[in-house]
Amino acid sequence: MKNWVIIGGGIQGITLASYLLAKKGVPIEQLSIIDPHEEPLAMWKHCTKQVGMSYLRSPSIHHLQPEPFGLEAFAKKKNLYKQQAFVPPYDRPKLSLFNEHCEHLIKDHQIKQSWVQGRVNGLKKNTDYWMIQLESGEVIASRHVVLAIGVGEQPIWPDFAYSLKEEGAKIEHIFDQTKCITSEEDRVLVAGGGISGVQTALKLSNELKNPVTLLTRHPFRVKQFDSHPGWLGPKYMRHFLKKKSYDQRRSLIKQARNRGSLPAELRTMLRRAESEDLVQSIVNEIAETYYDGRIHLTFQDGTSWYGDKVILATGFHPNPPGMDWLTQTIEEEHLTCHTCGYPIVDDHTLEWSENLFVLGALAELSLGPVARNISGARRGAERIIAAHSS
Ligand SMILES: Cc1cc2nc3c(=O)[nH]c(=O)nc-3n(C[C@H](O)[C@H](O)[C@H](O)COP(=O)(O)OP(=O)(O)OC[C@H]3O[C@@H](n4cnc5c(N)ncnc54)[C@H](O)[C@@H]3O)c2cc1C
Repeated sequence: MKNWVIIGGGIQGITLASYLLAKKGVPIEQLSIIDPHEEPLAMWKHCTKQVGMSYLRSPSIHHLQPEPFGLEAFAKKKNLYKQQAFVPPYDRPKLSLFNEHCEHLIKDHQIKQSWVQGRVNGLKKNTDYWMIQLESGEVIASRHVVLAIGVGEQPIWPDFAYSLKEEGAKIEHIFDQTKCITSEEDRVLVAGGGISGVQTALKLSNELKNPVTLLTRHPFRVKQFDSHPGWLGPKYMRHFLKKKSYDQRRSLIKQARNRGSLPAELRTMLRRAESEDLVQSIVNEIAETYYDGRIHLTFQDGTSWYGDKVILATGFHPNPPGMDWLTQTIEEEHLTCHTCGYPIVDDHTLEWSENLFVLGALAELSLGPVARNISGARRGAERIIAAHSS
């Protein structure tokens, strides 16, 4: 029997693993991390590569190691400071440095020893331990279980996109695992005016012969972070945690998230690409589509676009992840959820039921709007390890 099982080996799960091993002294043999991918952080690496991200949006103190200045110290030790390892504002780290630091932590703590490649499809309580059921039929028993599954497997496909796909058009979500081939000659439209859409359009503008069309439903929203930095500390969180109504917490989260926004430096890069005719931005909404070997889109103002490929940068579904298999556990163990479907957990420990914890998206009604980010992973890991003596 394991002492700790983390379900999901992404940013959230690996942050907690690093805290459990480094700060709590949990022996590696007592920990398992279950995830369908071959390696830790697969979704993170996939998503950031797809959009061609070169620097993180978050500051240098947001990383997976418990010591806040661990990433800076790592960069110094590796002599990477001179290579634009961090950029203003807020000393945001280069993605390659951040990933190298993650790899270093994974190796240092021998995290791969705890890796179980598989997908969980059931969770049951058995007196004082949990039984975790995998799709392969394997069952793992553990005293503590942490749900660290993100929303990354729920990309949003608007209705128009489904019908185009059915007709055989080249259309994909930027975060899909399987991709249609893009040829250099293709005329491509990127749908989505947030950070991922803009990054994708800029990346493609360097790879394709034709200008890239960037379709956004709203004028570009320039915000440095995806929520106000006040949410990173007690300033806003105290007010949030005072709310005993989860309806109010949900609406605070909704208001706080700068959805579909992008930092100022990306807006500047986009302006440059627009002025060089590498990207053409359109503020509009799709009214009609048809496919005759090429994709034709008509917008609400009557203008149109045709081309070879559409890439959706339309974000992730807001519904709670994992409900295809967690619903049964919720019913059997009488776990509490808000009407939005998200778990209601202990604010101090993130415990949903005895020795069952949540992190990331599933913990947002207690961790607030930053729950899904790296800072949320750190905050959540702190609470989980502080709550437990073993
Ligand atoms: C392009 C991009 C850039 C971002 N940049 C930043 C940034 O700069 N700073 C920041 O703070 N945040 C950033 N974020 C937000 C956030 O940090 C990332 O989305 C992060 O990857 C979320 O981590 P996660 O662990 O919740 O999810 P994931 O990385 O998706 O990991 C969850 C894992 O759980 C697995 N899983 C799901 N279901 C099961 C199951 N049933 N059984 C077993 N395993 C399962 C999944 O396969 C996956 O491997 C960014 C997000 C994106 C998409």
